[in-house]
Amino acid sequence: MKCAEVQNKFIALQDGMLNPVEKHKIEEHLQTCNKCQWLYAMLTKTDQYMAYEKQQRSPDFLANRILASLPTHAAKQSINLQLTRLQKIAALLLVAIGLASGWLLGNMVYTTDHSFSTSVTDEFNLGSDIGAFEAFLLNQ
Ligand SMILES: [Zn+2]
Repeated sequence: MKCAEVQNKFIALQDGMLNPVEKHKIEEHLQTCNKCQWLYAMLTKTDQYMAYEKQQRSPDFLANRILASLPTHAAKQSINLQLTRLQKIAALLLVAIGLASGWLLGNMVYTTDHSFSTSVTDEFNLGSDIGAFEAFLLNQ
């Protein structure tokens, strides 16, 4: 038997899934091949270690320490309350910025006596039709 064939049947050998003839061939190979012998020993040790680890329980104090390090319910509520306050403040700031921007833009375009400023008139080049345009806008 070749090494690869033997190694492919290691798990079946451990699980007792091989027929007596296959089992005998593999055991014969293991007696003569150091490489496969070493690999099979490592596989067996790994399985034994994994079985040992599955039986282990974490100490009770570890669970208590982890639970104690988590924020309490009151602390979580406080964090949520602070986030809600920050969201309200951010929303108010956005509204204030929007209102201020609208007010500033309105002052730039439209003067307090409800006529277009000359700078805007010059900028947009409304010319002599400004009076008719202003009347049109005020009648809307
Ligand atoms: Zn071998």
